[in-house]
Amino acid sequence: MTVRIGVIGTGAIGSDHARRINQVLAGGKVVALSDVKSASAEAVRAGVAPDAKLYATGEQLIAADDVDAVLVASWGATHEPYVLAAIAAGKPCFCEKPLATTAEGAKRIVDAETARGRRLVQVGFMRRYDAGYVELKEAVRSRTGAPIMVHAAHRNPTVPEAYVTAMAIHDTLIHEIDVLRWLLDDDYVSARVFFPRQAARANAKLRDPQVVVLETKKGVLIDVEIFVNCHYGYDIQCEVVGEDGTARLPEPMAVQLRLGAKLQNDILTDWKDRFVSAYDVELQDFLKAAARGTAAGPSSWDGYVAAITSDACVKAQEAQGVAVPIEMVRKPALYD
Ligand code: NAP
Repeated sequence: MTVRIGVIGTGAIGSDHARRINQVLAGGKVVALSDVKSASAEAVRAGVAPDAKLYATGEQLIAADDVDAVLVASWGATHEPYVLAAIAAGKPCFCEKPLATTAEGAKRIVDAETARGRRLVQVGFMRRYDAGYVELKEAVRSRTGAPIMVHAAHRNPTVPEAYVTAMAIHDTLIHEIDVLRWLLDDDYVSARVFFPRQAARANAKLRDPQVVVLETKKGVLIDVEIFVNCHYGYDIQCEVVGEDGTARLPEPMAVQLRLGAKLQNDILTDWKDRFVSAYDVELQDFLKAAARGTAAGPSSWDGYVAAITSDACVKAQEAQGVAVPIEMVRKPALYD
């Protein structure tokens, strides 16, 4: 079966997802496109989806009879109403992160999906599909002994002027928030944030770098350095310290050079290149489940937990090192 997909939001990642559905993956075809900038949807149709119909609104696209499943890649604040409309229409929906910009919004999606009694939503937390993280999770499960600590880092060479302190949580840390609880099979109970001295390249509206310390139910202590003006590259680090040993996320594949009396290899600079294969695998998983009229992978519940945790981390940024509790409602059985 070919799943007929409608894509809402055809910017950087929406256009790339349309390309991978039509040119890389099996089992899906982009049949509909919608973007508030119609020229953007036109360009995607011309480039990678010649048979797609253009819709003036996302709501019209979701309601179209020939759209079996929906991919939401518009601006974050618009995700919630589109996902709710897809659930109401009973159509599987892949939603780029964030699921919603507030925990209440994410909870509304959890409630709507639970009321339908069937998984319909996959959230775009692609790191769970990265081969390196998959191997790391297996090493933690079978080799290192029970985890005690995690040391992680999320470094970008630079960020736009408009990037402010809270975005280090909502736009950047959110990937660690999801992947680390998946990696440890655990949940968070509190967050603290510490700021060292300001990096010289950071703008006046951004405290950079920062260190987020998350404590889990099982007592694991996680420190994540977020440094978005690190200058040298896009660098994701993760090391788990267990009872018997440690396990570290593999570096991306890179040719090693012995050159000019130095042993060296390049470090990536663009985030788009770091998880490119993971994006392919996550969307293939979506197409496979959508063909059965359902969804797999990171769920609305995971989107809700990410929203609750992000809110606590933003509060912790203001709490000057004091722990902010992370409390959530009981997990519905649909997500067990
Ligand atoms: P982008 O390049 O700005 O593209 C978003 C597009 O959606 C723009 O053309 C925007 O038009 C359009 N849009 C805004 N509101 C809309 C609406 N109500 N209906 C239809 N289209 C609408 O942004 P992006 O970088 O692709 O990011 C899109 C989403 O993906 C964000 O939520 C982002 O966090 C997420 N993302 C995830 C990853 C990941 O690693 N998983 C990576 C990148 C992005 P205007 O420009 O006129 O607003």
